[in-house]
Amino acid sequence: MVIAARPTQKVKIGQTKLLINNEWVESVSGKRFETINPATEEVICDVAEADKDDVDKAVAAAKTAFYGSEWREMSARKRGELLYKLADLIENHKEELARLETLDNGKPIAESLNMDLPFVIETYRYYAGWADKIQGKTIPISGSYFCYTRHEPVGVVGQIIPWNFPLLMQAWKLAPALAAGNTVVLKTAEQTPLSALRVGELIIEAGFPPGVVNILSGYGPTAGAAIANHPDIDKVAFTGSTEVGHLIMEAAAKTNLKRITLELGGKSPNIVFADADLDKAIDGCHNALFFNQGQCCNAGSRLFVEEKCYDEFVAKSVERAKQRQVGDPFASNTQQGPQVDREQFDKVMHYIESGMRQGARMLCGGHRFGDRGYFIEPTVFADVQDEMTIAQEEIFGPVMSIIKFKDIDELVERANKTIYGLAAGIWTQNISQAHAVAHKIRAGTVWINCYHAFDIAAPFGGFKQSGMGRELGEYGLQQYTEVKTVTVKL
Ligand code: ADP
Repeated sequence: MVIAARPTQKVKIGQTKLLINNEWVESVSGKRFETINPATEEVICDVAEADKDDVDKAVAAAKTAFYGSEWREMSARKRGELLYKLADLIENHKEELARLETLDNGKPIAESLNMDLPFVIETYRYYAGWADKIQGKTIPISGSYFCYTRHEPVGVVGQIIPWNFPLLMQAWKLAPALAAGNTVVLKTAEQTPLSALRVGELIIEAGFPPGVVNILSGYGPTAGAAIANHPDIDKVAFTGSTEVGHLIMEAAAKTNLKRITLELGGKSPNIVFADADLDKAIDGCHNALFFNQGQCCNAGSRLFVEEKCYDEFVAKSVERAKQRQVGDPFASNTQQGPQVDREQFDKVMHYIESGMRQGARMLCGGHRFGDRGYFIEPTVFADVQDEMTIAQEEIFGPVMSIIKFKDIDELVERANKTIYGLAAGIWTQNISQAHAVAHKIRAGTVWINCYHAFDIAAPFGGFKQSGMGRELGEYGLQQYTEVKTVTVKL
């Protein structure tokens, strides 16, 4: 591993206020909170802190915009044009946004620039194309009637996003909601408010009418809970922990039965059969776990490896992990930056201790990296048992847990023995075995001989306590419409 210098990069900070009704305003309470650079532990700046009163203001603006004529009567094609314009503006400011993302989140600049930003731009363009293709059906019902359906927007949508892909999660939420004609109150994660606010400036520049998009920085139990409990919000789309997912569902049930889509935690099985192309599998499994500092809900965090190739796989995976370049997220060759904040850092270190305590074999890493910032050495545990905490709970950090399997018949049951069902990976050259296992795995996404193979057109979401509903593609769009049946007597 290389210890890189960590110069403080000069990054332009955009707005730090709340975006309500196309205006930048301080919070009603006047409170602000600090956002921290996770690579240096220094304060970057402070931002306005939304609470219930601000959510009320933002919801009122979104409601007025939803029922007002400018947005409601805007042609679907024009809505698409606004989204295309936003995509162009983001593309024009790609480097600036990537730097802001890396500063606030700690992810390597090469990933912000070459992975997150292109996917963000594609997301807005993809849903821009959908805006004028949201169509109902004519239905041949019995009797002398003309019956058709309309796919109408749900209304005022509350969106609560996490900190691991701030710009991307904003895009996955905003783009389909706006394409379908909803209005939005979006709350960013308290750890990473900055890049979404900069996009807020571009949203105004693109020409979206006042109140259509409102962006609030703030904490979960205050601003987030106010969104989940708001009687004038028609739907909440949430990405975050399963624990908070339960709270969102409860709030929706108690208030107004608002629609919810939840994209929650995971503990995804990643299964390597002995007949796999082992070098490709080792590389793929490394990225499945370590990508984005291990901070992916779909990380391949339960790595099942067949006994026949287990020793070789473990030895090579350890070597691979030791090669990982950890350090300054602004250095172009960095592969792993810091964890997002002190809380996540402590949580991951606690899981590493628990792995050691429960008898897993730690083969590399296990410590803080350096003495400043929330860096953790890439860590590999072998001989992990199914019931160990590190095999059961979501670590959300650079900690690989390798589990041995022998009996293929038992494997599926073991892989499915989790409260989660977000994703899975299968590595084998036996194509019928790959499909047979893929069909038996209880997860929303299964990758065969690949991992993290996302595409804006392919739906993503969870079985079981990994959530409900899907994002991306046409399925993701459907979650932002209500179906209305109109019947005319002829
Ligand atoms: P993590 O533990 O990874 O930070 P969370 O589920 O706590 O995941 O956070 C994801 C998002 O949910 C953030 O925007 C956070 O502010 C928000 N959030 C946290 N708690 C609540 C809550 N009680 N109600 C609504 N939103 C919340």
